[in-house]
Amino acid sequence: MDAAPQTEAVVNVLNDNPALLKLIGNYYRDFIGILDKDNNFIYASPASHTLFGYKPDELIGHKIFEYFHKDDLNELKVTKEFQRAVPGYFTLSYRFLRLDGGYSWVESENFPIKDPVLGTGQFILTLIKDITDRKSSEEMVKKFVQAVETASDFIVMANGDRIVMYANPATKAITGFEPPEIIGKDVSTLWSGEMDEKFKEEMWNTLGVKKKPFRGEIINTKKDGSKYVLETQISPILDEKDDVSFYVGISRDITKAKEVDRMKTEFISLASHQLRTPLTAMKWYMEMLLDGDVGDLSQEQREYIVSINQSNERMIELVNALLNVSRIESGRIMVDPIPTHLGDLVQTVLDELQVKIKEKEINMVVSINGHLPKINIDPKLIRNVYLNLLSNAIKYTPRGGEVDIFISNNGKEVISQISDSGYGIPKSEFHRVFEKFYRGENVAKVETDGTGLGLYLVKAIIESSNGKIWFDSEEGKGTTFWFSLDLKGVKAKAGEVTITP
Ligand code: ADP
Repeated sequence: MDAAPQTEAVVNVLNDNPALLKLIGNYYRDFIGILDKDNNFIYASPASHTLFGYKPDELIGHKIFEYFHKDDLNELKVTKEFQRAVPGYFTLSYRFLRLDGGYSWVESENFPIKDPVLGTGQFILTLIKDITDRKSSEEMVKKFVQAVETASDFIVMANGDRIVMYANPATKAITGFEPPEIIGKDVSTLWSGEMDEKFKEEMWNTLGVKKKPFRGEIINTKKDGSKYVLETQISPILDEKDDVSFYVGISRDITKAKEVDRMKTEFISLASHQLRTPLTAMKWYMEMLLDGDVGDLSQEQREYIVSINQSNERMIELVNALLNVSRIESGRIMVDPIPTHLGDLVQTVLDELQVKIKEKEINMVVSINGHLPKINIDPKLIRNVYLNLLSNAIKYTPRGGEVDIFISNNGKEVISQISDSGYGIPKSEFHRVFEKFYRGENVAKVETDGTGLGLYLVKAIIESSNGKIWFDSEEGKGTTFWFSLDLKGVKAKAGEVTITP
């Protein structure tokens, strides 16, 4: 601060006009103090109260050092300055003790004032400005930068012209590039990777035109040429005029996780394939035994075979479910849409479930909107959805309960609703319902038979058909699942396999 020369003149004026000083002190929002030769306050302006909690009188007679944070007082400089060892104006930044025991960061300007009698610098006029807010936002920024610099995700900022302005140190570990190597370059070095033109277009359309965050997986090339997979979230930061001011990208290397996932899926697919053949062979042989192809069975032998056969069926179901999961996860499911009447499709599912419905004495209520046109969906896939939701509704409803199916058309989509009066799903587990292997705490004891794969598959199928699925439930009262399918139907998707019902 080199405002000293003018202020010195002001100080001299004040020195000669104590009343003027008081007047200024009363209105000035920063604190003004005058210290005697021993650094005791002899004047304190009313701002001491608003800023630090003290009435001016409470400061008078006290040494200014009593209000210094001890860490800020230790500096030799401070005491030396106040000893007037260095003549003239000086500035200091320190923490000032408030009446409430806390500290405020202050910046002070200090002017030695000539003693009117002795004519030498005896007094000090101290102007103290509270800079706590500024300090704390500076601290925040410092901490924030620290967090970004030590993050294991790689964080990049680019300006509106997509030129990299900042890259954190993790950039090196993930991409192989040192931050200075990419700063000043186009972001496509880092974010565009191996993506095709359409994907790239969509990404920049989302970011630059729609001005919405973009999330995606990007296959990229490191500096050394090796490939890696990034999970990236890029957000456009807008200015007051809603123009993109800059972009922030946070990316994580998911190469290893992807590989592990792929191996898991591959293993499940392989194991279930290999299990299916012997299980099917057992099924045929047992059916032959039950049909009497190799002679009559005694009553007891028949009961045993029926029981083995049921266990075998359960294993086949599980293996099929696992196979379906691995097919869905590897994205090889074929979508083969044909115009389908959902009411007819539901009827075929109900026919299949008739035995179970009778067995549990379920009251089944079916209501289908009259204006339900055929929609272009893959009946094999959607049949699986109805089958899973309806068999769950039956399975998780006590004997004599009710299951309702309601299919309606809102002009844009067809909504299917499947409600039951069963055990319900605990609220605390709602977020896990569509997870792989989820089985409800409340029903796992009542119904031991279940894989926890049904709803996971249902959700994947609905989403692959551009639909949505949601539910509501109350424990002890019942559960409702809804799913929607666009009236326009789905586009065909080539794939290698379809799912096993
Ligand atoms: P599974 O029925 O083979 O256990 P699902 O994936 O179909 O597997 O269902 C997962 C879990 O969700 C079930 O175990 C059950 O706890 C809960 N659930 C699904 N549908 C219902 C329902 N209609 N009523 C109560 N709970 C349900």
